[in-house]
Amino acid sequence: MVHFVGAGPGAPDLITIRGAELLKEANVVIYAGSLVNPALLGLCREDASIYNSAEMTLEEVMERIEEAEGKGQTTVRLHTGDPCLYGAIREQMDLLAEAGICCDDTPGVSSFCGAAAAIGAEYTLPGISQSVIITRLAGRTPVPERESLSKLASHGATMVIFLSAGMTDQVAAELLAGGAYTEKTPAAIVYKATWPEEKVVHCTVGTLAEAARANGIRKTALILVGDFLGSVYERSRLYDPAFETEYRKKTDTKQI
Ligand code: SAH
Repeated sequence: MVHFVGAGPGAPDLITIRGAELLKEANVVIYAGSLVNPALLGLCREDASIYNSAEMTLEEVMERIEEAEGKGQTTVRLHTGDPCLYGAIREQMDLLAEAGICCDDTPGVSSFCGAAAAIGAEYTLPGISQSVIITRLAGRTPVPERESLSKLASHGATMVIFLSAGMTDQVAAELLAGGAYTEKTPAAIVYKATWPEEKVVHCTVGTLAEAARANGIRKTALILVGDFLGSVYERSRLYDPAFETEYRKKTDTKQI
């Protein structure tokens, strides 16, 4: 049996209880060493075989899993954040299915949630944006043309840009090309959210590239863009005294 587990964004206590239990029991642990906090490996059994997938191919990962299966052992495949985002889990799941090996998936706290927590932000502010676009700039891995950053930026929605901190000049240019953001649109770079070395840099679309350079940030960071980082928004209807819901009658309490 193979358990895919989301390790969370960095802080070791941000793995789920279920994920931690699976990690404690596993005979074999294959972890994404480029981003998973090694402190989590302290949870593993003393006799667990531990492999860093950053140094392995998909074929090597499968070999280790098949070896474990042959001995009737359990494998945890530990991915950073939540495995469903840029985790390359689908190709593993398909090969496991072909080999007749069962697997399941335990979600984790994605870094985009860790980054929002780091800056105390809500991505979906009423009157500002009710959508979050999670994307990346094309790099060595291509992005379909219909999803180019400039096209997605044309919505002016909240954007969370993964895997692009080393290409901030191009990110800023594409954001502006979308036509909905201006040089003054607020942005932030969150480096290693929830790790002890976490760093938050507030900037604007116009100063994004300079801000990344000045702070020496090239990787392990998210770029957040949008007016949710500003000070203007509307109050929610949900908690408005004048608004009635299934759970609450409206009252004549004055709004604060
Ligand atoms: N599955 C992961 C994303 C893996 S892709 C998740 O859900 O978060 C790797 C990219 O995620 C990095 O290049 C960076 O853009 C982002 N990332 C991962 N952990 C991060 C963290 N703690 N702080 C900021 N960005 C992070």
